Amino acid sequence: MCADLTADLVVLGGGPAGGHAALAASGAGLDVVLVDEGAAPGGQVWRAPGVAVSNHAALGPDHRAGEALRAALTASKVRVLAGHRAWLLQAGFTVHAAAADGAARLQAPALLLAPGTTERVIPFPGWTLPGVMGLAGATALLKGNRMLPGRKVVVAGAGPLLVAVAASILKGGGTVAAVVDLGSMPEWLRGVPAMLGRPDLILRGLGWRALLLRHGVPYLTRHAVLRAEGDNGVASVTVAPVDGDGAFEPGGNARRFEVDALLVGHGLVPASEAARSLGARHLHVPALGGWVPELDGLGRSSIAGLYIAGDGAGVRGAAAAALAGAQAGLAVAHDLGRIDAARHTAEQAPLAARVARAARFGRAMAALVRIRPGLIAAIPPEATICRCEDVTRAEIEAAFDEGARQIGQLKAWTRCGMGPCQGRFCGPTIEALAAQRGIAAEAFGPMVARPPLRPMPIGTLTGDFDPAALTLPPSLPSS
Ligand SMILES: Cc1cc2nc3c(=O)[nH]c(=O)nc-3n(C[C@H](O)[C@H](O)[C@H](O)COP(=O)(O)OP(=O)(O)OC[C@H]3O[C@@H](n4cnc5c(N)ncnc54)[C@H](O)[C@@H]3O)c2cc1C
Repeated sequence: MCADLTADLVVLGGGPAGGHAALAASGAGLDVVLVDEGAAPGGQVWRAPGVAVSNHAALGPDHRAGEALRAALTASKVRVLAGHRAWLLQAGFTVHAAAADGAARLQAPALLLAPGTTERVIPFPGWTLPGVMGLAGATALLKGNRMLPGRKVVVAGAGPLLVAVAASILKGGGTVAAVVDLGSMPEWLRGVPAMLGRPDLILRGLGWRALLLRHGVPYLTRHAVLRAEGDNGVASVTVAPVDGDGAFEPGGNARRFEVDALLVGHGLVPASEAARSLGARHLHVPALGGWVPELDGLGRSSIAGLYIAGDGAGVRGAAAAALAGAQAGLAVAHDLGRIDAARHTAEQAPLAARVARAARFGRAMAALVRIRPGLIAAIPPEATICRCEDVTRAEIEAAFDEGARQIGQLKAWTRCGMGPCQGRFCGPTIEALAAQRGIAAEAFGPMVARPPLRPMPIGTLTGDFDPAALTLPPSLPSS
C-alpha cells in the first residue's frame, strides 16, 4: 500500500541537520514531513538506542542531544516518517520512500536534503574479512544496539572517531589491543587553535585519551594497517609505521595483534547522491570530504526549492549541522513567504555566527582525515575495491591503462559502483586512484546517481501487481 502525503516541505534525513531544519521550518508555520530510514530521528551521532536504556545519564551528551531533538519533534507539528528509505526523488518535488510495511509518496514545493555522510575505508589486504568494520559503523552498533563489535579489537584509521570508539569499547567492557592513528601528534596540535572554540569537545576528547591511558592501550601515531588475516573472520591485524603521506616506511617495525574485530575508518564523505540525482550543481572540495553541492550561505542549492544542510553539504560535524539545518529551515519559510525578510534576518543572524565557529572545529577534524596518497599507492593489485561487484584494483588500473578517464567509463568497463551501494563506498577510493594518475576530480566526475538511492524491496515497485495478469503477445512458432 502506498500512502500519499502532501506538505509545504519534505525534509530527508532526521539527524542534527534535518531535525533542526524541520523544527525551524515548522516553528515558522510550514507544514513539514520528515522522512528518515532510522527507527527514530537522531541521525548518526544522536542515534536513538534501539534497546531499552535504564541509565540515560550514563550515555553522555550525544545521547542527551538526541533525546532533546526527539522530544522537540514529538512536541512539534512535524510529521515524522521513521523507518522510511527515500529511493527516488523527482523534480518539483516528489519523494518516493519504502518502508517495511508499505511505501509513501511525499509531495511538496520545497525539499530539504540532510542525508549526512558515508564512511570512507581505504582498502588493504583483508579489509573484506568478517569482523572488519567501519569506525563510524561501529558507533552505530555501540549506540543503536548497545553491543560491542568485538571482545578484543584494534581501532585504526584517522580522525576523532578513533578515540571516541576506543573509549566506548573500553566502557562497554571490551579490550582495545591498540589504537592505530595515521596522524601524528603535531598534526593534532595544529588543530588546537580551531578547537578552542569548543572547550566541551576538547575536554571530552581528553577524557577519552585519559581512559585509554588508564587501560594501558598503546596509541600508535603515524601507523596504518598493513593487513588483516584470518580464516572465517579477522583473527590478527598487522600494523606498521607510515610517513606523513601514509606510505609505509621501508623496514619499519611491523606489529601484530590478535583480535576478533578490526574497526577502521579514514574519514567521512558527504552523501551527495540524492542532490546529484536531481541535477543540483556540485563542486569537488577535498577539505569538506569530496563532492559537495554548490549552495548560498543558507542552504539554497542551484535548483529552486531544493535546500541542502548538514554533513551532506560538506563534513563539518554535528554542531555545525544542527545550526545549518535551522538556517536552511528558516530560508525555506522565508522563500515560501511564511516569514518576512525582517524576521528572517533577525532569526538567522545569531545562527550565522555560531555556525562559523562550529564549522571551524569541524574543518580542523576534517584535516586529520585527508586522503594520504601513500596509503592509496599501497593498495595491492589484488585488493577488492568495489565489494558489491568484486572489482579489484588491478581491474581498475587495467581500465585506466585502456584509456578510461571518467568514472562513468570505469563503471561501464569494470562494473565498479553498479552494486547495491551505487558506488557510495568504492567511489572515493576510485577517485583517489584517478588522482594518482593525475586525473583531476572535476574531469573524472562523480558517479551518476541513479535510483534506487537505497536498496529496497522489489515488492515496493510491483505493489499488488500480479505478473500472471499480464497479456503477453503469442510466442513465435518454434520451427
Ligand atoms: C555511521 C556513522 C556514524 C557516526 N558516528 C558519529 C559519532 O559517534 N560521533 C560523531 O561526532 N560523529 C559521528 N558521525 C558523523 C556525524 O554523523 C555527523 O557529524 C553528524 O551526525 C551530521 O549530522 P547530519 O544531520 O548532517 O547527518 P546524520 O546525522 O548522518 O543524519 C542523516 C540522516 O539521514 C538519513 N538518510 C540518509 N539517506 C536517507 C535516505 N535515502 N532515506 C531515508 N533516510 C536517509 C540517515 O538515516 C540519517 O538518519 C558518524 C557518521 C556516520 C556515517
